[in-house]
Amino acid sequence: MAANAHLDHRNPLVFDTHELGRRPGALQRLSRTVDAPRDLGLQGVIGVPEGAPVELELRLESVMEGVLVTGTARARAEGECVRCLEPLELELEADFQEMFSYPDADDRGRVKTEPADDAEEDEDRLFLEDGLFDLEPVLRDAVVLALPMQPVCQDDCPGLCAECGARLADDPDHHHDAVDIRWAALQGLAGSLGDGEKDEMSGAEAGVDEKQEK
Ligand SMILES: [Zn+2]
Ligand SMILES: [Zn+2]
Repeated sequence: MAANAHLDHRNPLVFDTHELGRRPGALQRLSRTVDAPRDLGLQGVIGVPEGAPVELELRLESVMEGVLVTGTARARAEGECVRCLEPLELELEADFQEMFSYPDADDRGRVKTEPADDAEEDEDRLFLEDGLFDLEPVLRDAVVLALPMQPVCQDDCPGLCAECGARLADDPDHHHDAVDIRWAALQGLAGSLGDGEKDEMSGAEAGVDEKQEK
């Protein structure tokens, strides 16, 4: 299953720690730009489009029990304003830090059991696998944390008109008194006036047509 799937060093979100080595204190800095994986962000709200560039800066530090990975991801996220539904973009910067443990090195001398028994305890632990680690779950968590749950196009976005759905930021003086009166009138005279208006309009159109024909 997923936990047992072998990491593929060709996956751009898989990093190799062989160069870093296992001497505690060794440091390595890496930068890499990768294509955003699918569904990176808050689904249906805001996220980094699949395939968009994600700039990664990583600092790998060898420690006793594994490799401590500290880094930053930068990308452009796209979504829509929760108030006015206009599309919006924002520059995302997500920081993360994660420990990837050596599966064979338990510094407390504990005998490692198979994941089946220890699954609950190790649920949140991430491991190196043949010196490789998969940054994807770390990146996903960091991006979700860095994104606004309720993105808005501007802090004071007034949203949409409850009556007609117009975007109030485009039309701050927007109000409906006049339209309300007309709407009430139309409701009162529904039927007869509706036909009359249609006739007037078709008459006007006919007039235009006649002029054009002459
Ligand atoms: Zn808005
Ligand atoms: Zn309106």
